[in-house]
Amino acid sequence: MPNGYNGKILHVNLTTGELTVETPSASFYRKYLGGSAMGMHYILNTLKPGADPLGPDNVLTLMLSVLTGTPISGQSRLTANAKSPLADGIGDSQCGGFFPAELKFAGFDGLVVSGKSPRPVYLWISDSKPELRDASHLWGKTTHDAETMLKAELGDDKVEVMQVGPAGENLVRTAAIMNMSTRANGRTGMGAVMGSKNLKAVVVRGKSKRLATHDPKKINELAKWGAASVDGNPDVAGLKLHGTAGVVSFQNSIGTLPTFNYDAGQFEGFEPISGEVMTETILKERDTCYACTVNCKRVVETSFNGVPVERKYGGPEYETLSTFGSYCAVDNLAAVALANQICNEYGMDTIGVGATIAWAMDCMKNGVLTEAEVGLPLHYGNAEAMVQMTRMIALREGFGDVLAEGSRRAADRLGKGHDLLITVKGTEAPAHMPQAKRSLGLIYAVLPFGADHQSSEHDPMVEEGASDLYMGRLKMLGMDHTLAPRSLDGDKVKFAQKTQHFYSFLDSADLCQFVWGPAWTLYGPQETVELVNAVTGWSDFTIDELMAVGERRLNMMRVFNAREGIDRTADKLPRKFYKALQGEGPTAGVTLSPEEMERAQDAYYEMSGWDQVTGTPTRATLERLDLASLVGLVSHGRPRVVTLYKERTMNMPNESQQMPTPTPAPAEPAAPATAPAPMAAPKPAARAKAAVKKAAAKKAVTKKAAPKKAAPKKKAAAKKAAKKPAAKKKTAAKRRK
Ligand code: SF4
Repeated sequence: MPNGYNGKILHVNLTTGELTVETPSASFYRKYLGGSAMGMHYILNTLKPGADPLGPDNVLTLMLSVLTGTPISGQSRLTANAKSPLADGIGDSQCGGFFPAELKFAGFDGLVVSGKSPRPVYLWISDSKPELRDASHLWGKTTHDAETMLKAELGDDKVEVMQVGPAGENLVRTAAIMNMSTRANGRTGMGAVMGSKNLKAVVVRGKSKRLATHDPKKINELAKWGAASVDGNPDVAGLKLHGTAGVVSFQNSIGTLPTFNYDAGQFEGFEPISGEVMTETILKERDTCYACTVNCKRVVETSFNGVPVERKYGGPEYETLSTFGSYCAVDNLAAVALANQICNEYGMDTIGVGATIAWAMDCMKNGVLTEAEVGLPLHYGNAEAMVQMTRMIALREGFGDVLAEGSRRAADRLGKGHDLLITVKGTEAPAHMPQAKRSLGLIYAVLPFGADHQSSEHDPMVEEGASDLYMGRLKMLGMDHTLAPRSLDGDKVKFAQKTQHFYSFLDSADLCQFVWGPAWTLYGPQETVELVNAVTGWSDFTIDELMAVGERRLNMMRVFNAREGIDRTADKLPRKFYKALQGEGPTAGVTLSPEEMERAQDAYYEMSGWDQVTGTPTRATLERLDLASLVGLVSHGRPRVVTLYKERTMNMPNESQQMPTPTPAPAEPAAPATAPAPMAAPKPAARAKAAVKKAAAKKAVTKKAAPKKAAPKKKAAAKKAAKKPAAKKKTAAKRRK
């Protein structure tokens, strides 16, 4: 019996209704771990080059890792990969919540979804038994309504639901895959892909919560130490207190709160939309993911223009407060909370939608768009128009139909507004400014799926004044000294690349980046390695191997993009990022130059073993990373022709030698024409889901554990960090959603 994983991947062919179970080898799990790296394996082996991202040939992978479902903070996450309808290259997005752990308990390590169902269906997995069921009655329902109906239909209020809302059904390119109506695989349009396949939902239930692990005692020690350390780590404690929303005030103070669609780094109206104000006014509850003691999620209640903002849709994160707030110059917290609710209700990425609306406002300001074209006074600061447009995008109503394409495609369709875009590879930039965080700018440019703030460490963590705790952890990744603020020299490029590999591992191990990682986290690299060994029993898994997993994933993505004809020319930041920042504050007048970015990219490709001209991995790099099977997809670092797909399919699989075998007689291999009768009489929800899950999480992390010998030392280190002067603490903080 493997430790940490089920050894089963479910293949779902929606065109034929066929469900097959593959049992990969142990070496497969060690090579990829899970998440995005595992998803990339299937995508490279099964997705036809040149496929329409919203057509039946796209393949959607939903992957857990060898760590998912273990009783420790920050492991209940899932990664979605597919060809992105925004980027036209690879898409990638992570979510948290309770669904990932429940899918593991339900018996699978991941799903590979191909084809397109002739009618809406949902996938129901109960204790390792998968079946497809009709979802016609759920089509068009908003997320919370659909979840309620599914629980009633299945007679079990403990099922976990991952689904698309009406936005995914309407093929809104910024659509998200939602779970709990509050957690999103938001970025790169994965919800539109799922909607295009007529797959409304995946519903899971695993009655046994027992997951075999190699060293449960060690896992409990780590969990206990983590739970006891939350309050001693100022960044993590801050996350618990104000959520990621706590970052708004800090970002504004250092001039890195994107304002007026990235024209400035300070927003006059930041205070009403800050985490502190949210905590004091509309916050009703702190929520969490399965087994996590950090509790960073928000639950708010308020109203805007008479429309209630309800607890069931959670509350806004930092990125949401920025994109719908400062990007749009809206200082009304209730309006931002309502926009957040609409996104969760209809299933949309708050970053993509908020930033697209900000782009339209910028176009209005600059006379590129008129009120007559937009149909609304969509001006900076108009909270009502901002909220209205959010709903119009979800439903593709009026000008919302244009903005539902994402800002880059909207500009293409209108034939104007390109100079005002803040997109990289079609993906709207999150709320961290590359003008100040320059290594992040480099990562925005070279990342295969566009601008992302959770794919490397942020500059303040290594710049002068960085905390000893985090510098100690960065040392384990090869950074041994602090760097000058706003630098982008060779050392900064190395910092960007090394931490990118670590974060890429996190997205393969499906670990939360607020809990595990080099900085701004509870646990560091050493504990991460200890966790992998304790769960799997590999015993010799090291930081070097961890970094190799992350690097492997990135190289697989670059190969995928190369196969799609995407090369270095796509690694470009928007023109707007090279303009001097306006307004007041520490970043007023600050610019990023194309020359320094070009130099940094040259250094980055060199360090990565990628061809300087195309930015594609060389043969030597692929062989070094045990990816020799992908060499045929690129030639001397240049994309080869599309017909290679046939050669590859004949040679697959490689690592997972055991071919998929049919499941033991699935009850309904094809979607039924009508909705099946409920399995049992619906049970009324006994109490709020959050309360039920919190109790389960608490139980999971408070199991008896032997005292951890090293804990006092680590606790002392955390306390030491907590005692640092305020100025130092500041540098060790503030990023991410
Ligand atoms: S830190 Fe927050 S997002 Fe991460 S696992 Fe915990 S509750 Fe979920």
